[in-house]
Amino acid sequence: MKIFKLKLHWQILIALILAVIFGYYIPQGVVYVEWMGDIFLRALKMVIIPLILSSIISGVTSMGEGSNLGRLSVKTLVYYLATSTMAIVTGLTVVNLVKPGVGIEMGFTESVEGLTENAGSMKDILYRLVPDNIVDAMAQGTILSVIFFAIIFGYFITQVETKYKDSLTTFFDAIFEVMMKITLFIIKFTPLGIFGIVANEVAHNADQLGSIAGSLAIYSLCVVVGLLIHAFILLPLVVRFIGKAKPYTHFSNMATPLLTAFSTSSSSATLPLTMEALEHKSGVSNKITSFTLPLGATINMDGTALYECVAAMFIAQAYGIELSFAQQALVVVTALLASIGAAGIPMAGLVMITVVLTAIGLPLEGIGLILAVDRILDMLRTAVNVWSDSCGAVTVARSEGEETLVAL
Ligand code: ASP
Repeated sequence: MKIFKLKLHWQILIALILAVIFGYYIPQGVVYVEWMGDIFLRALKMVIIPLILSSIISGVTSMGEGSNLGRLSVKTLVYYLATSTMAIVTGLTVVNLVKPGVGIEMGFTESVEGLTENAGSMKDILYRLVPDNIVDAMAQGTILSVIFFAIIFGYFITQVETKYKDSLTTFFDAIFEVMMKITLFIIKFTPLGIFGIVANEVAHNADQLGSIAGSLAIYSLCVVVGLLIHAFILLPLVVRFIGKAKPYTHFSNMATPLLTAFSTSSSSATLPLTMEALEHKSGVSNKITSFTLPLGATINMDGTALYECVAAMFIAQAYGIELSFAQQALVVVTALLASIGAAGIPMAGLVMITVVLTAIGLPLEGIGLILAVDRILDMLRTAVNVWSDSCGAVTVARSEGEETLVAL
C-alpha cells in the first residue's frame, strides 16, 4: 500500500489528524481502537528498563577509565540547569507582561484531593536515586535508581580483571544492540499506537476544548508562547552557537520522537524513540546518548519548568497576590526543583505545582483553576522536554569533539 511508503513522521501526523476527527465525531467508537494505544505504550514501557540499563552500562564502559564520566556529567548537568532556568525566565517574562490571571473570577470548585499526596519532597527524590533494592526499583520502573545503579555498575566493570571486563562489556553491548532492534521494531507501529491514544483522549476530553475561554485562554497562550520562544529561538541558539550544529536539521530528525512525546505526554515512554533518532538520524554516539538521554528524560524538563512558573504566577495573580521580586525568585528556584522532581509521565507537572505553591504560600486549591487545560498543555510541554533533551545530547556530543550528522 502506498501509505506505508510515506516517511514515518508523516504517517504519525496523518494518524494524529485522523484520530482527532475520529475521537471527536465517533466517540463511541474509541472502545474499538484504544487497545492499539495501550499495547503501544505497554511495548514502550517493556523496553525502557532493559534499554536504559544496557545502554548506560555499554556507554559507561566505552568511556573507559579516567575523567570522561566526570567531565560528561558536569557538562550535561550544566546544560540541564541552564536551559531549564532559561525556560523559567522566559515564562516569567511572558506572564509578567501579559498578566493573564489579573481580575479573574474565583468561582472554581474542582477538587484537588489526592494530588498533593503524589508530590514527593526533595528528600524523596534523593532517596529515589539510591535504591534499597535494585530489583524492586526495576520492577517499579524507578528510572532514577536504575540510572544510578547502571552508572555504578558500568564504572566498576572497567575496574575488574581484563577477562571479566571484556566479557561483560561484550555482553552488555550485545544486549543493547538487541534492545535497539526491538525498539526499531516497535517504532514501526507508532502511527497505530498514536491513533489509539489520541482518539481516546479526544473522545474523553473534547469538552475541555470548550473550557478554554477567557482568562484560561490567555493563560494557555502565555504557556504556548513561552514554549515556542524556548523551543524555536533559545534552544536553537544554544545548539547553533554552543553545539556548533544545525538546529533545524536536527529538529526534523527528531520529528518522530517529538510527535510521540506530544501524543503520549510522556518523556519516559518516548525515550526509546528519542535514543533511536539521535543515534541513527543525528549521528550522536551511544556513549553520549546513553548517558544524557535517560537522565534528561527524568530530570531535564524545560517545558515543565516553564509551565510550573507560568501556572504559579497565574494562580497568584488570580488570588490578587502581588509577588515581590524575592518571591518571584523563589518561584524560579522551586519551579526548577519541581521540574527536576517531576516524573516523565502524563500530568506529573500538574502534581508538582503543589511544591511551588507551598513554597510561596499559595492555596493548593489554586490548582483547580488550571486543571481544565492541563491535558493539552501537558502535550506541548512534554514535546519541549524531549526536544531539550535531544538538543542537550547534540550539544554535549559536539563539545566532546564528535562529528555527528548535524555538525555545522
Ligand atoms: N508529562 C511531562 C513529561 O513526561 C511531565 C509533566 O507533566 O510536565 O515530560
